[in-house]
Amino acid sequence: MPELPEVETIVGGLKGFLIGQKISSIKFLDRKRFVGDEKKIIGQKILDIKRRAKLIIIKLENNQNIVIHLKMTGQLIFKDKTHRIAGGHQSRELFIEVPNIHTRIIFDLSGGGKLFYNDLIRYGTIRVLKDDEVDKMTKGEFGPEPFSDEFNKEYLSMIAQKNKSSNIKKILMDQALIAGVGNIYANEALYLAGIDPSRKSASLSEGEISSLYNAILQSLKLGVKQQGASIRNYVNHEGKKGTMQNYFKVYDKAGQKCDCGGLVKKIQLNGRGTYYCPACQS
Ligand SMILES: [Zn+2]
Repeated sequence: MPELPEVETIVGGLKGFLIGQKISSIKFLDRKRFVGDEKKIIGQKILDIKRRAKLIIIKLENNQNIVIHLKMTGQLIFKDKTHRIAGGHQSRELFIEVPNIHTRIIFDLSGGGKLFYNDLIRYGTIRVLKDDEVDKMTKGEFGPEPFSDEFNKEYLSMIAQKNKSSNIKKILMDQALIAGVGNIYANEALYLAGIDPSRKSASLSEGEISSLYNAILQSLKLGVKQQGASIRNYVNHEGKKGTMQNYFKVYDKAGQKCDCGGLVKKIQLNGRGTYYCPACQS
């Protein structure tokens, strides 16, 4: 599933093409992927497109929003006469002519372009929500954004202490505690901070919390800079692979050499593949 850097990249890519356009009409090839009343968005101008956690939020002039969650296999493709911007799951349907077998929803835009929503396994959703409903939903479901003032060392220390029975990796990936960090960036941040992913979160010292805080921001910033990681299923807004995977220290590197000379180990933790260096992260 795309995490903060991957979603940020798609949003950045679509921005220049969507803002200022009106939604002229909408066509459903799978009505179930759409929740809400389409009449509320037709004829409305797009004011902004932004990311919150792993969501893509298209803000309209009438205080309504199109809230897109790509989940495992969602794709967004914008196409007009001269441009094609495509991001999300990297199956071939992202690159071939649209609409295709995986196209579920098509938005017609006033500038003549179209925005296609593809979804292979149909886990993703598009919801129509008012501004206050978006606020309510995001406040309920998501913790602070890692790059916001709300997320700081004190906050990280507080949630680590409060959730005593959890291991630290679980805390990092809990969307209700920190928004946008998934398996890739949790693994990488814990490596950078030299912390064993299975450590009980309450056992972390102040110094370790401080290193981990810096490591989370460092790994996410690198991810954004590299336009996300293209591993298994994600490509950026230009349909190209992001390059974060070239900078992985441990993620997806089981049995490979760590910088220290030791071997990266893979275990299952909280039901997810977890990569770490036993020598560097004790
Ligand atoms: Zn190591």
